[in-house]
Amino acid sequence: MGQIHYPLSHLPERVSIREVGPRDGLQNEDVILSTEQKVRLINCLSDTGLKYIEVGSFVHPKVVPQMADTAEVFARIDRRPGVVYSAIAPNAKGAERAIAAGVDAVQVFLSASESHNKSNVNMRIAESLAAAGEIARIVRGAGITFEAVISVVFGCPFEGDVPIEQTLDLVERLVDLGAEQITLGDTTGMGNPRLVQEVFIAFRERFPTVPVRFHPHSARGAGIANALAALQVGIDRLDASIGGIGGCPFAPGARGNICSEDLVHMLHEMGIETGVDLPNLVECSRLVEELLGHQVPGQTLRSGICGHIPDGRPNPRFRASNSAIHVAG
Ligand code: ZN
Repeated sequence: MGQIHYPLSHLPERVSIREVGPRDGLQNEDVILSTEQKVRLINCLSDTGLKYIEVGSFVHPKVVPQMADTAEVFARIDRRPGVVYSAIAPNAKGAERAIAAGVDAVQVFLSASESHNKSNVNMRIAESLAAAGEIARIVRGAGITFEAVISVVFGCPFEGDVPIEQTLDLVERLVDLGAEQITLGDTTGMGNPRLVQEVFIAFRERFPTVPVRFHPHSARGAGIANALAALQVGIDRLDASIGGIGGCPFAPGARGNICSEDLVHMLHEMGIETGVDLPNLVECSRLVEELLGHQVPGQTLRSGICGHIPDGRPNPRFRASNSAIHVAG
């Protein structure tokens, strides 16, 4: 009827955030935290209301020394009821170690492009799918959630554009293996908002009911814009990293996870619920700085939370209707 369509009025009311800092973030840091320090960080994150935390990875310790103590970390963290503590397994042995450590969910990683898969795990995609099948059997046989992450969906550093159908064919194979959630990753930050929407609209058309999550990277500054673009087409599951660690924008080869507290801040200001206590999350970011011994890329830690001006007066722009009702304290 000639009405103007305002896309921002169609955003999800609530967004689920998976915190990937302890794995994706720390894995890409030069500083290797002690087990004790990782446990402190994860316990801090567990107290924020986050419902999904990527704890570590059961890869060979020689390949990723930062993650060598993942089983020990699982043994020592305080597990909060209702929080999913996940880990990555690259093969059957990793899956068995993950199960023994008591993980809630196991993720497999594959690339949408052959060249990236080869470079990342030295296998063809078909070989990675065979490995994923073996992992799925072990994990699902143990009654644990099996999930899949597809890398470089929005651009491959070797091949450039990745055909959407190529990604979706891979999704179909992973769903057939029993993947309960699919994550599409913009691993090298090559995505843009228009492409993000095209990919997720195509995903939804082909897989109307498969739970899907977006893992944006901000290697070229578009991460949070891409996250918003995904929300506009109904994607309500996003990955982010505390402090934005795992990709300092000033470091060569920066990976650039988007920053959890910056994302939560933006969502709360928009009236979108996350279930996360933002001031507590910012404190976790402060802890990350202390543990790593350098500043994090996240901006909220520097600028402060709107509505949390030091004398305690609420920012009038901070709507009482949104979920982050911390204006009184
Ligand atoms: Zn990442």
